[in-house]
Amino acid sequence: MLLKITILPGDGIGPEVIEEAVRVLDAISHSFGHEVSLTRKNIGGAALVASEDPLPPDTLQACISSSAVLLGAVGAPSFDNLPAHLRPEAGLLRLRRELGAFANLRPAVCYPALEDCSPLRAEVVRGTDILIVRELLGGLYFGEPRLLHGPTGDRAATNTMRYHEPEVQRIARIAFDLARARRHSIVSVDKANVLECSRLWREVVTEIGRDYPDVKLSHMYVDSAAMALVLRPRDFDVLLTENMFGDILSDQAGGVVGSLGMLASASIGGPVALYEPVHGSAPDIAGQGVANPLGAILSVAMLLRHSFHVEREAACIESAVSKVLHMGNRTRDLAKDGRFAISTADMGERVLEAVKEIALSDVSNNAAPN
Ligand code: NAD
Repeated sequence: MLLKITILPGDGIGPEVIEEAVRVLDAISHSFGHEVSLTRKNIGGAALVASEDPLPPDTLQACISSSAVLLGAVGAPSFDNLPAHLRPEAGLLRLRRELGAFANLRPAVCYPALEDCSPLRAEVVRGTDILIVRELLGGLYFGEPRLLHGPTGDRAATNTMRYHEPEVQRIARIAFDLARARRHSIVSVDKANVLECSRLWREVVTEIGRDYPDVKLSHMYVDSAAMALVLRPRDFDVLLTENMFGDILSDQAGGVVGSLGMLASASIGGPVALYEPVHGSAPDIAGQGVANPLGAILSVAMLLRHSFHVEREAACIESAVSKVLHMGNRTRDLAKDGRFAISTADMGERVLEAVKEIALSDVSNNAAPN
């Protein structure tokens, strides 16, 4: 199979973690006999420096004409004071919209080897396996009008939260379909006691739920969900929510399972899907070679599964990650006080070796008998 992928390293630790993810992608392709065609382009701050546009036309064109996009992260403090449309994050929001990627899937899994990395007690976090389904193209991040105006001392700012029924219907259907392939349970998170958008959200999700009588649906206010996520994370299967609540709760879920650096994501729904680790550009550790590349590497597994439907290859990467963690390998974010931490590149190398080993036995087990 030809894997035609656009690579957008972006800013901060983005290029560092993407380099390791691409090495793993190359190894998987080689082991399973696929051909990889990669096009690298700028986005975010890197694109602003090169062309004063956080999503240059050639980047967008490359993304649209590939089969999948793998992105690192965007954003840097040096761009924080630019007008909103010229900030690195504007490039990413525009890319998501241009790709029609309305459904953001963010798995948060507690690996047995990482139980002691969570700030929660092992017996609380053990067995946590949540799929956060976040609506990605609506709500406060895209609603118009959005403005900041008035003289200093008397300024006012407006953002608009708006949801249209079809936007809620389509994300709810994705969540229900995914729940059917998991533990048949959805918690839909909103703030229906205060917000009209949330009341609409709750009604529409309930209506869609009638088509899925085999899936248990419950509703939770976002404040209560934030608390439940740390008290009883294991109780969640699919957590369905709107754009901003999903952004916040998925970072929280990252903390619950040990590190934000572990979380991968897929943004699907359009003709070309976008894969990226959940974390940002982490300027506080950029350039030090200490970032955890596993979220980016696990995003490659999601890419192979969702865009190319090659399950064995995806599972091979996930098993390799599990194995290196089980062997005690830790980047700095995962190393308990005083424990030895390995670099970004070393973690990538360990996964690479494990991928080759697992792929070898997988390929020979699946070889046709003579
Ligand atoms: P962040 O996710 O970059 O970092 C939060 C904390 O987690 C930091 O302490 C960081 O060091 C740590 N961290 C994150 N990823 C890590 C990894 N792989 N390994 C080890 N530690 C990791 O969030 P932030 O600091 O709020 O934002 C920094 C910049 O990133 C901002 O410009 C923001 O707009 C941008 N951002 C981009 C995206 C994206 O590109 N999808 C997402 C979130 C934030």
